[in-house]
Amino acid sequence: KDSINILGVRIDCVNFKKAKEKCLEFLNSSSPHVVFTPNVEMIMLAQKDEKFKKILNSSDLNVPDGIGVVWASKYFGEKLYERVTGFDLMMALMPELERQQKRVFLLGAKPSVAEKAKENLLKIFKNLSICGTHHGYFSQEENEKVIELINSSKADVVFVAMGMKRQEEWIYKNKKKLNCKLIMGVGGSLDVLSG
Ligand code: UDP
Repeated sequence: KDSINILGVRIDCVNFKKAKEKCLEFLNSSSPHVVFTPNVEMIMLAQKDEKFKKILNSSDLNVPDGIGVVWASKYFGEKLYERVTGFDLMMALMPELERQQKRVFLLGAKPSVAEKAKENLLKIFKNLSICGTHHGYFSQEENEKVIELINSSKADVVFVAMGMKRQEEWIYKNKKKLNCKLIMGVGGSLDVLSG
């Protein structure tokens, strides 16, 4: 089985290695691909919100973020053996993004957090190309400017850290306008990285 369905949400049967490979494939494809990291909270939210469920199921890859999803999976058709968190997956992609000189945009969190996260990332991945950052508190009116900023930065990857639901909704609404290859929702990851 390639995927299982947990209460209406598709979870792809990938372990960490496979998830990483998939992301690298997306990176070198010709169109934007979306990666979400559903956890139990998100699956529960989707029970009360059909639109959110539809958005979650619209991704190109849904990795099992959280031990709850891995645990639940055995009751929904297939045992998943490993949790794949957004943060871990993002960090595992970094050396490859650095090696391939892909351009990374960090979107989300409070003002100056993404910049601090960038600084910290560059301490670890010295040749990583972080082509831009922007906070995650912009209005609908400012949205086009943000899209323009991302596109003019020529980002290959956009990590979107605006919290669950908000980030998935933003990605769903804007993915067609973005000229990048990989868009991934990573929750509070920029807060973690900025610390
Ligand atoms: N965040 C954001 N824009 C918003 C709201 C939140 O960028 O409009 C960021 C917030 O600063 C934090 C991350 O999203 O870095 C996760 O926020 P929170 O813990 O509130 O979200 P959760 O995932 O717990 O719903």
